[in-house]
Amino acid sequence: MTTKTFIIACTCAVIATGCIGKRSNSADSSTQNAATTTEMQKEMTNEELMAKAISLSEDNVSNGGGPFGAVIARDGKIIATGVNRVTAQNDPTAHAEVSAIRAAANALGTFDLSGCEIYTSCEPCPMCLGAIYWARLDKVYFANTKDDAKAIGFDDSFIYDELALPRSERSLHSEEMMRDEALNAFRMWKQKSDKTEY
Ligand SMILES: [Zn+2]
Repeated sequence: MTTKTFIIACTCAVIATGCIGKRSNSADSSTQNAATTTEMQKEMTNEELMAKAISLSEDNVSNGGGPFGAVIARDGKIIATGVNRVTAQNDPTAHAEVSAIRAAANALGTFDLSGCEIYTSCEPCPMCLGAIYWARLDKVYFANTKDDAKAIGFDDSFIYDELALPRSERSLHSEEMMRDEALNAFRMWKQKSDKTEY
């Protein structure tokens, strides 16, 4: 578990930038169009924040990533940015929104991004939408639609369709096993008095 956490933290630093007032010095070219300190200190309009997300998506195509960029802002100021690095990092979860969420949470030192909004160059896929709910972001602004993404080969509509189906009818087979053994961790959590609820 420790190793896994370490890897995730390292990936965040490479695929996304946050950290108010400082920039990543990573050699990864995906960070070249990350928000500058000046940009992060400026209060921006909705249009300017979305323009930044779109600019990130364009630059990411040139930098070997998918055509997706995202910005997380609070009170009009950029907290963090993210771009899609799925193929560049061999990380299927490295979507722009997830990358931006990781960077913003790291920058703010909290898992709760209430009070923040996300500007994404494309309508979130089910994974990112789920992450946005978990992060408790206040609002999602998107530019390209999921139908626009589908038209260029990024079709996540099948996942939306799958989620609407009963578990037994999904193409991804899943089965319950060892529930009694697994429930012990839940009992431990329930009884723990000093837990951080989320
Ligand atoms: Zn996504």
